[in-house]
Amino acid sequence: MSAVMLKISQVSKHYRRESRNTVRALEGVSFEISAGEFMVVQGPSGSGKTTLLLVAGGLLVPSLGRVECAGSDLYALTPGERARLRANRIGIVFQQFHLISYLNVLENVILPSLAHSDTSGAGKRARELLEQFNLLPRCDHYPSELSTGERQRVSLARALFNRPNLLLADEPTGNLDRENARIVLDCLAGFTRAGGSVLMVTHSREAASCGDCLLVLEEGKLV
Ligand code: ADP
Ligand code: MG
Repeated sequence: MSAVMLKISQVSKHYRRESRNTVRALEGVSFEISAGEFMVVQGPSGSGKTTLLLVAGGLLVPSLGRVECAGSDLYALTPGERARLRANRIGIVFQQFHLISYLNVLENVILPSLAHSDTSGAGKRARELLEQFNLLPRCDHYPSELSTGERQRVSLARALFNRPNLLLADEPTGNLDRENARIVLDCLAGFTRAGGSVLMVTHSREAASCGDCLLVLEEGKLV
């Protein structure tokens, strides 16, 4: 049996602000992902997918429950320790990409190297990834000059840059045509064949069919 990379135990997330209604975005969600496994969580808009991904990635403290990544209890770590674990172990492809608008494609992909003191080889690594995604000719372009599919691939290249063990992808095919969606899904599948773990959340039934394991989220609960 392979090692568990991500373990989500009884996680709930309630968004509360005084004078506003509490939103119960996640309720008692539990599952785990092993090394080499491609897990898909499918659900309609508003079902809690992005919330789940951010909680899994160490970016959003759950209201209840526990998240373990590579054997560490994520939210028992100090913020600094958690940031280090994220930098070394976790790559995230955000729903809205979050590319830096004033950095070009190459600089965006190299960005995760700032988490490490030794940045030699960073340019070479970034160019290899950009070549893999057919983006090398665009390396000195800015995000605003790219198509949505190109931005999606830049954001995937950046997530892979630090050679994570766990890749979290939020609707990574959401804005793409078939061909670009295929490139992205093939890349995620290839990542798991090389021993990585993937958690992809999506509303698309078609994209959901490409994982090893499918969970369905409805109103914050796995069904
Ligand atoms: P999905 O990604 O599946 O569309 P989200 O995780 O973005 O779902 O949202 C789940 C629910 O939580 C939705 O009802 C959404 O409106 C609500 N929500 C998300 N973020 C916040 C927030 N910061 N404050 C209050 N409610 C939120
Ligand atoms: Mg979402």
